[in-house]
Amino acid sequence: MDNRVVAIDGPAGAGKSTIARLLADRIKYTYIDSGAMYRALTLKVLDSSINIADTKEIIEISKEVDIDFMDKCIYLDGKVVDKQIREERINKNVSIIAAIPDVRKNIVRIQRRISIGKNVVMDGRDVGTVIFPNAFIKFFITASLEERAMRRCAEIEASGMSVDLQDIKCQIEKRDYTDSTREDSPLMQAEDAILIDTSGKSIEEVLQVVINFINLRGGDINAI
Ligand code: C5P
Repeated sequence: MDNRVVAIDGPAGAGKSTIARLLADRIKYTYIDSGAMYRALTLKVLDSSINIADTKEIIEISKEVDIDFMDKCIYLDGKVVDKQIREERINKNVSIIAAIPDVRKNIVRIQRRISIGKNVVMDGRDVGTVIFPNAFIKFFITASLEERAMRRCAEIEASGMSVDLQDIKCQIEKRDYTDSTREDSPLMQAEDAILIDTSGKSIEEVLQVVINFINLRGGDINAI
């Protein structure tokens, strides 16, 4: 049997990665966070002396950077950078870097390469439209802006930091705008993706909906 890809796309803070991670555990697939790769590249750019507007230099870095995603961890040049890629400075700059077409070409190459020979659950913005247009099944997971912002605030507050809901709302809105209006691989629902609005739903409820759709498609999850 061919290797299978479950593609999960959607806007920022919709709960894609939580669902993708749990799903991968449940069905014994490999989880790959495609956004973590753009974040790792952004970290490398910000930690170098390169100007964020220097597209040429950023493309050069994206050609030679060593990014990997293994055992649910993101590696940048051989080091785990899971914590660093979630910093505010990354949130603010990642979409600018991810909008550069040649950067995307290089990152998509890595994303496809590390998926070879594996059954994969991958989440991101263009998994079902560009990275794996022939994915076994595609989901587009979304939620209202209000709810996405509230969830993000709760996460930040749980880590002991204070946060302003309005700030988070603006930040999410801005990132979604940049992601969905870029020329190359914009954030959009693939024609054959299943839309799931997670507003008002628990993680377990959403996971169950996803699993039911996979079973309907003949994914035979119960047999895995
Ligand atoms: O998924 P996450 O929010 O961590 O993604 C961070 C950013 O990386 C997104 O806002 C987007 O700009 C970029 N991204 C992308 N394509 C993907 C995944 C993420 O352009 N497949």
